[in-house]
Amino acid sequence: MTSGRRRPGLAAVRGVPRVVLAAIAVIVLLAAAVAWLLVGRAEGGGGMTASADPPTRPGGVAVGSLPPPVPLPSVDASGRVVVIDPGHDGGNGAAPSQINRKVDAGGFLKECDTVGAETAAGYPEHAFTFDVATRAAALLRARGVTVVLTRDDDTGVGPCVDARARAGAAAHADVSVSIHADGGPPDGSGFHVIAPDRAPDGVNEGILASSARLATGLRDAYEAATGEQPANYLANQQGIVDRADLGGLNLSTVPKVFIECANMRNAVDAARVSDPVWRQRAAEGIVAGILRYLGAPPG
Ligand SMILES: [Zn+2]
Repeated sequence: MTSGRRRPGLAAVRGVPRVVLAAIAVIVLLAAAVAWLLVGRAEGGGGMTASADPPTRPGGVAVGSLPPPVPLPSVDASGRVVVIDPGHDGGNGAAPSQINRKVDAGGFLKECDTVGAETAAGYPEHAFTFDVATRAAALLRARGVTVVLTRDDDTGVGPCVDARARAGAAAHADVSVSIHADGGPPDGSGFHVIAPDRAPDGVNEGILASSARLATGLRDAYEAATGEQPANYLANQQGIVDRADLGGLNLSTVPKVFIECANMRNAVDAARVSDPVWRQRAAEGIVAGILRYLGAPPG
């Protein structure tokens, strides 16, 4: 039903000249056009140049722009064997007596395992490492690689660091990578790869050179895939640190490194590790580093 009343037009506004009303209408239209352009720029839409502003995820935390995807190296790795070691475990926190018992760490004793780090919002390192490890395993298995994970779920306790280290030899693996995320200072960010230095008892002497090659390729591939920068809170800011205090590296007899994927205590890094899209990139970067190593001639 219509009321029969005419809708008021410009002429219906009494006492205001038409020309003034027309000018106001033009100004309103111009303002709307400017607003549309600004929104279009902020969203990188409309075929315009992308904004330098980082995108935000739900919660409003800037996570930074992901770099363009990098294709995985075209390496024939079928039949090769890779151990992926997701750091810590979901049951560790409730089993202090089990994880605090001392085990051989390569010439000295060290705790079986630790609880690991977490973000300020409570996202735990063990969940992050298991998720990234599962994603990396799927990518490698799709290329015919035999992948052995050091744990099959995120609800158990351990395994201890000595068992994690020896998993490579037990699986006759070509290479082993241990996945972690750091609990560094909140004002520091970035990732780093930990390569083995000579263990106190010297048992890892035979893997130092090959592990150093693995570390370099992994660092470069991971940075390219994720856009994450080498950690800025370490004395060495090249993204690779050599250490001889980790049983997981001291006791390995196959080429092995750790990767600390980000700093969980930093707000921007925490937003990244909490984002499944970013975790897939982290897995791609780790797999690219592994494939790069497997494809390189031994030397
Ligand atoms: Zn860790």
